[in-house]
Amino acid sequence: MTRLVFLGPPGAGKGTQAKQFSVLCAVPHISTGDILRSAVSQGTELGKKAQLYMNAGELVPDVLILDLIRERLSSPDVSPGWLLDGFPRNVEQAIFLDTLLEEIGQPFECVVNLDVPDEVLVSRLVQRGLDEGRADDTEGTIRNRLEVYRQRTEPLIDFYRSRQQLVSIDGNQPIEVVTAELNKIVS
Ligand code: ADP
Repeated sequence: MTRLVFLGPPGAGKGTQAKQFSVLCAVPHISTGDILRSAVSQGTELGKKAQLYMNAGELVPDVLILDLIRERLSSPDVSPGWLLDGFPRNVEQAIFLDTLLEEIGQPFECVVNLDVPDEVLVSRLVQRGLDEGRADDTEGTIRNRLEVYRQRTEPLIDFYRSRQQLVSIDGNQPIEVVTAELNKIVS
């Protein structure tokens, strides 16, 4: 049973690692960012509401995210496990997740924190903006996302560390080295 939460600043490589690892472990990769981007491109109600926040580099309000996570983690395909990427992103979401996982009897193994210095993050995100044309990978928005990360998401490192649930990996290494370290931790 593999259930992991990926934590880290924007550009740390959570999505890259979670995507690969989900294939390896044959469990769904649940990315709130991917879910929201697909809602935006399909023009759903959720997408319309989320788009402004995303493009500004702000967190989408919890009221739009929490039900979505509850539904996703209640789907039949998560019975072999899951990799959560992009959630929780603030303390309220982390507390919600605790309650939800207890309710549905799906405790996670650990929280994997990917550590990457700021200057590396910015250059990765600028590059991704050029490669993938993501609307939130522009310089002003990137700066705000890092700021929002520091204020809202980074406190989760201590939150999980104090409960001995945190494992940190140096994310400033080649992708396959990070994957290998991840493999060691989980196996
Ligand atoms: P990154 O980790 O590179 O910032 P994501 O794809 O995880 O990118 O998220 C992109 C955007 O989607 C975020 O900047 C935010 O606006 C929104 N978002 C994703 N997950 C959440 C969440 N759990 N709570 C609030 N907003 C979220």
